Amino acid sequence: MKKERKLIIAGNWKMNKTVAEAVSLVADLKRELAGVKVKDVDIVVSPPFTALSEVSKSILDSNIKLAAQNMSENNFGAFTGEICAGMLKEFSVRHVILGHSERRQYQQETDALIAKKAAAVHAAALKPIVCVGETLAEREGNLTEKVLETQVRGSLAGLTKEQVVETVVAYEPVWAIGTGKTATTQQAQDAHAFIRKVLASVFDEATAKRVRIQYGGSVKPNNAKELMSQPDVDGALVGGASLEARSFADIIKNSI
Ligand code: PEP
Repeated sequence: MKKERKLIIAGNWKMNKTVAEAVSLVADLKRELAGVKVKDVDIVVSPPFTALSEVSKSILDSNIKLAAQNMSENNFGAFTGEICAGMLKEFSVRHVILGHSERRQYQQETDALIAKKAAAVHAAALKPIVCVGETLAEREGNLTEKVLETQVRGSLAGLTKEQVVETVVAYEPVWAIGTGKTATTQQAQDAHAFIRKVLASVFDEATAKRVRIQYGGSVKPNNAKELMSQPDVDGALVGGASLEARSFADIIKNSI
């Protein structure tokens, strides 16, 4: 399916997979994708930090790109437990997921912190995937647009137009993550179009048109095609279904 922007389909493995399991998953994924014309899609996997080194070696002969699941806003120093951009670049990481709802919820990450991290990601010539999305209570309270606008403005604050076109926004309704509940294609399209409208008002229309907006929330092989057919849906951020090579590959195959 030909899209206005190149699709980006990323697997977020979260806190799953030992090094051996991660290497085996990538090997299976490469087998599943052999022969698939993947020039119209960026394929990204996001293993835990501990597996980045080995996975980066395993994908050298493939079209698969590497993402990290988080990054410090600082470049070095006394920040116990943190990982900085320079460390990620040693493993040819290209993208960094920022502000996932699990980090917003469990690590109390705020839009202001995510904006600092996004600036650090760009300063290192990496590309952030910035997650936004409303909770069920917010959707039911008719607050979806307000929440999305606040998160988009806050998490991307300070980025230049050049930087924002190299940023991926992931719309992930919190109520659809890991729950098996997917937003309807119309709900996804409406939210993506709204996010693009906010981007146009913060930057400008031409810039907003170039930003890729992924959908995330229980994307599976059987709903990928319909979601990806929406004009403002430019890819997927996939959790559970990316932990198994066949289902992640089928999402990719069904999307292109
Ligand atoms: C996610 O955590 O980014 C996600 C979308 O998870 P799942 O696909 O499992 O809903």
